[in-house]
Amino acid sequence: MAEQIEFPMRAATRFGLSAPRDVMRQLCDHFVEHCDVIVDGDKARLVAEFGTAILECDDSRMSVQAFGYDESTLSYVKMMVVEHVLEYAPSDKPDIVWRGDGVTGGPLPFFREMRVVGARDVTPNMRRVRLAGEDIARFASGGLHIRLLFPASGLAEISWPTLGADGRIVWPTGAAKLTGRIYTIRSIDVAKGEMDVDFVIHEGDAYPGAGFAVKAKPGDIVGITGPGGGVTPSADWVLLAGDETALPAIGRMLEELPASVQAVVRVEIPDAAEEQRLASAAGLDLAWLHRGEAKAGTTTLLEDAVRGVAIPDDGRSVFVWAGGEHKTFRSLRKYLRGERGLTRQQHMVAAFWRRGFDGDSPEAEEA
Ligand SMILES: Cc1cc2nc3c(=O)[nH]c(=O)nc-3n(C[C@H](O)[C@H](O)[C@H](O)COP(=O)(O)OP(=O)(O)OC[C@H]3O[C@@H](n4cnc5c(N)ncnc54)[C@H](O)[C@@H]3O)c2cc1C
Repeated sequence: MAEQIEFPMRAATRFGLSAPRDVMRQLCDHFVEHCDVIVDGDKARLVAEFGTAILECDDSRMSVQAFGYDESTLSYVKMMVVEHVLEYAPSDKPDIVWRGDGVTGGPLPFFREMRVVGARDVTPNMRRVRLAGEDIARFASGGLHIRLLFPASGLAEISWPTLGADGRIVWPTGAAKLTGRIYTIRSIDVAKGEMDVDFVIHEGDAYPGAGFAVKAKPGDIVGITGPGGGVTPSADWVLLAGDETALPAIGRMLEELPASVQAVVRVEIPDAAEEQRLASAAGLDLAWLHRGEAKAGTTTLLEDAVRGVAIPDDGRSVFVWAGGEHKTFRSLRKYLRGERGLTRQQHMVAAFWRRGFDGDSPEAEEA
């Protein structure tokens, strides 16, 4: 396997495992979904959008080289490998210490503390919160989404996560514990140091994400990490489909699409009051799907609408992007991959939330 990788940042580690080849196989099987995986005997290369990892095994050890474009992307590569090694070798407790570039012990390079500078209703159920912070240029590209970290209320001092020697995040515990929820940067103004995040005010708005938006007032503090989760697709023809939680991403992607693109957009919302004016240079075929009295995440409106869209087969490049409730995500993914045969490069379908389940817990996902 040729190793001519030109990245500004690199780091390496080597650690003992009881069954390194088995762990490497599980890791590669998992990452096939998310990045390019090239396996050559006891060596594997994982090529993600944000960086690359090269793994190598012998009978008792695994060595890993991580490559990134900057401190943040190097951290992402380290984390993606280490978290999965620990998941697939839970009883080994390997002693993982990185050498080379990248910070340890300090604040996360992909973290910023933000403060609320304003909030207003875009529609009756969508509240736009404007956040301001220092040095936010990195959040303008490389991903549309961020994780918001909400501190418990009433703390004299807020603790934020730091980076451990093994490359994983060390989360504050006890009273300092943070609650995380994933949102989309609807728009960002790097020069002003401000970004807008649109929050769906859903059933039971006392929950961390929706509740934060309902109560947001200038001076409130929230942490953000990211960005991640994909960028605006580049294809001649795109289908963007989602419920109201995906509307901020759809709105932003539409604003970024050039005039040469044909965009088909299907958005499920409660009713006409939730429709937003969406600006785009792209050719637009937009339909709002009103679910009326039905509860969010209980209809097949979105899937039916996506099935009703003819995906062109005339030589143009195509991309289908969809975000919504978990059940819809599963059926759409099955349809697009199975029935339509779209490749990984031609679609991205994500669960944005799940009926009856709380949003993400950063510790659970990143431990
Ligand atoms: C990549 C990504 C980007 C996202 N971007 C946005 C965004 O820009 N704006 C946005 O509003 N959301 C967005 N979401 C969805 C958001 O993270 C979830 O809706 C999250 O659960 C909201 O957190 P919460 O604290 O309000 O509710 P939680 O505490 O997570 O959930 C409490 C209860 O409310 C239910 N619930 C959660 N969301 C909804 C909903 N939309 N409608 C009805 N019931 C719900 C849950 O099933 C649960 O029963 C995004 C998700 C992902 C993965």
